[in-house]
Amino acid sequence: MSTQRGNGSRTRAQKYKNTSVFKNDKYDKTPKNLQINRLQVVNVCEHCKGVIEWKIKYKKYKPLTAPAKCPKCLEKTVKHSYHTYCIPCAREAKMCPKCGKKTAIEEVEEDQTKLDNEMQQLLKTLPERKRRTFLRYLANKKKEISDEPDKKHEHVKDDLEAKLNELKLAANKEDDEDFSDDDFDSDLDDCDEEESED
Ligand SMILES: [Zn+2]
Ligand SMILES: [Zn+2]
Repeated sequence: MSTQRGNGSRTRAQKYKNTSVFKNDKYDKTPKNLQINRLQVVNVCEHCKGVIEWKIKYKKYKPLTAPAKCPKCLEKTVKHSYHTYCIPCAREAKMCPKCGKKTAIEEVEEDQTKLDNEMQQLLKTLPERKRRTFLRYLANKKKEISDEPDKKHEHVKDDLEAKLNELKLAANKEDDEDFSDDDFDSDLDDCDEEESED
């Protein structure tokens, strides 16, 4: 026996113990699984958030194949796995769309297109033309989000940051273009020829 009568604390170590942490993408690198792993659980109460995150972590999460019927508005508007009610109904009734409990759902709808200080500084250092390119890109992102408010727009900030860095690199490269690579290459070619003549 692992414990003595009346003594709740174990005297020996747990017999079987995993040696490594469970990794749900160890044998499954499919885009579907990776996409599930990237999901951010939002709009539900803390308890339900934990439940859904657990399902994701241990590979129990099953994405919805078709929208489900919301018992409140009776429309097929439930687009998230394990949710009972649709997001608009849950918002209106100020309840969790999964368990239906009245709850103050954290509004996670943070404006992802808002540039942080660092990004704003970077934007300022861009040449005018690149800056306009970026602002067009930003406007497109904003439009995408407002066109599809129900869709999860992930990595918007990462995308914006990547775009900024890309433009910054491109701008730096254009600055360097006075030093043409071509000259350097042809010098090397000359060397080769001289050597082969020897
Ligand atoms: Zn509804
Ligand atoms: Zn809930």
